[in-house]
Amino acid sequence: MKPTYDFSWMCCLVIDDCHSVSQYLQVVLQDSLNLKEVYVVHSANEALNFLDENPVIHVVLCDLNMEQVDGLEMIRLLKEKRFRGYFGIISSMASKVINSAEQLAKVHNINLLGSIAKPVSEEDLIQLLSGVGEKQLSFDQAKPSSTPLKIYELIRGIEKEQFEIYYQPKINTLTRKIVGVEALTRLNHPRQGIMPPDSFIAAMEHTTLINALTQYVMKHALKHWKEWQSNGHTLNLAINISPQELNNLDLPEYLLGLLQEHDVPASNITLEVTESALDLNQANALEVLNRLSMHGIKLSIDDFGTGHSSLERLRIYPFDELKIDKNFMLNARKSDNDRAIVESSVILAKRLGLQVVFEGIETSELYQMSNHLGGDIIQGYFMSKPIKESDLLDWIDQWNQQNS
Ligand code: C2E
Ligand code: MG
Ligand code: MG
Repeated sequence: MKPTYDFSWMCCLVIDDCHSVSQYLQVVLQDSLNLKEVYVVHSANEALNFLDENPVIHVVLCDLNMEQVDGLEMIRLLKEKRFRGYFGIISSMASKVINSAEQLAKVHNINLLGSIAKPVSEEDLIQLLSGVGEKQLSFDQAKPSSTPLKIYELIRGIEKEQFEIYYQPKINTLTRKIVGVEALTRLNHPRQGIMPPDSFIAAMEHTTLINALTQYVMKHALKHWKEWQSNGHTLNLAINISPQELNNLDLPEYLLGLLQEHDVPASNITLEVTESALDLNQANALEVLNRLSMHGIKLSIDDFGTGHSSLERLRIYPFDELKIDKNFMLNARKSDNDRAIVESSVILAKRLGLQVVFEGIETSELYQMSNHLGGDIIQGYFMSKPIKESDLLDWIDQWNQQNS
C-alpha cells in the first residue's frame, strides 16, 4: 500500500547525545520514512555550528536530557538563532518536564511539532512529522540573516524603497470568500535577497526607524488598496504596528491624513497590535487606540494567548478583533489544553462582541476544524502563504474559481 505521507522533501537534524538512539532515528527517518536528508549531531554546540552552515533544515528533533547544553537551553538558542523550521522533542523524561519544555518552545515562538517518548516507534515519528505543513516554511520565501543587519542597511532600505509588502489572505470561515489581507513586510536586501521581519523589526524598534517603517508600510499599502479597489476588490487591509507606535501620539493624525489623501474609508483598515505590547493603563496607548477607534479604524489584538492578563486588556482597550496565536491553532489538533484555550478564547471574544481570527491554519485538518471551533476568519499557509502584491489579484481569481 502507498504511504499516506510524503516526507521526501524534508531535511531533518537529529540532536541526541546517545549514539545508539540517534543512529536508530537516522535509519528509520532515512530508510523507512524516506526523508530527503537526515543529519545527526551529538551536542547542542555541534547543532548550532551545523545550522550556521545548513540554513535549510525543516525539522530539528532534539533530546531533552543531554549533558552540557540540554534540550531546554537548545530551545532558547534556536530562538536566538531565529530558527524558522519545526521542532520536535524526543525524551524519556516525565510528562511534567516535557510539558514545560513544550511551553517554553511556545513562549519562544518555536514551531513546535510536539513530543514523543523514548523508545521511539516509527508510527510516533510519522505522526510527529505529519504536523509539518509541506513546502510552507517561512524560510522557503524568506531566509533569516546570518549576520544582524546594520542600521545603515535599514536606513538604505527605507530610502531606496527596498522594503516589500507581502500580503496574506484572510478568508471568511463560512463563505470561504476572501475578506481581507494582512500586510507582512520583507526587506529585499541587495546582497542577501528577501529577508523576513525578524531580521529587521527588532533592530528598527530600538531606534525611531520603526516609525519610518510604519509610515512606509502604510503609504505603500494604501496605494495597493486603491489598486485592488479599482479592480473590483474592496478588501480589509490589516497592518501590524509595533509597541512603540502606541506611544506615538502623532500616529492617528498621520494615518487619517493618508486615508484622506488616498480616499480610503477608515473602516477598511485594521491595525494589529501584539498582545504583549499592551501595558495596562498606559495613558498614551489608551489615547492613541481610542482616537483611531473613534475614527472608525479597526483594532485587532494579535498573538492572543501569549501575553499576560489578557482579559483585563480586552476590557480596557477598544478592540474589534482577536487573533488567536498560531501556536495554539497548530497544537489544537493534538493537545487538549491548546484546544481548550482556543475554545474558551472564542467564547470570551464572542461575549465581548469581537471578531475571531484563527492564524496558523496550515493543514486541511485545521481548515476543517476551524468551522467547529467557531472562528470567523482564517489565515494560514493552507490557503496561502504571504504573497507578493503583484500576485495577489491572480491568487484571488484562482481562489474564487475554486471556491464558487
Ligand atoms: P504576525 O502579525 O503574527 O503575522 C503572522 C506571521 O505568521 C507571519 O510571519 C506569517 O507569515 C506567519 N504565518 C502565516 N500563516 C502561517 C501558518 O499557517 N503557519 C505558520 N507557522 N506561520 C504562519 P512573518 O511574515 O514572518 O511576520 C512575523 C511577524 O513580524 C508578524 O507576526 C508581525 O508581528 C511582524 N511584522 C511583519 N510585518 C510587519 C510590519 O510591517 N511592521 C511591524 N511592526 N511588524 C511586522
Ligand atoms: Mg499580525
Ligand atoms: Mg500573529
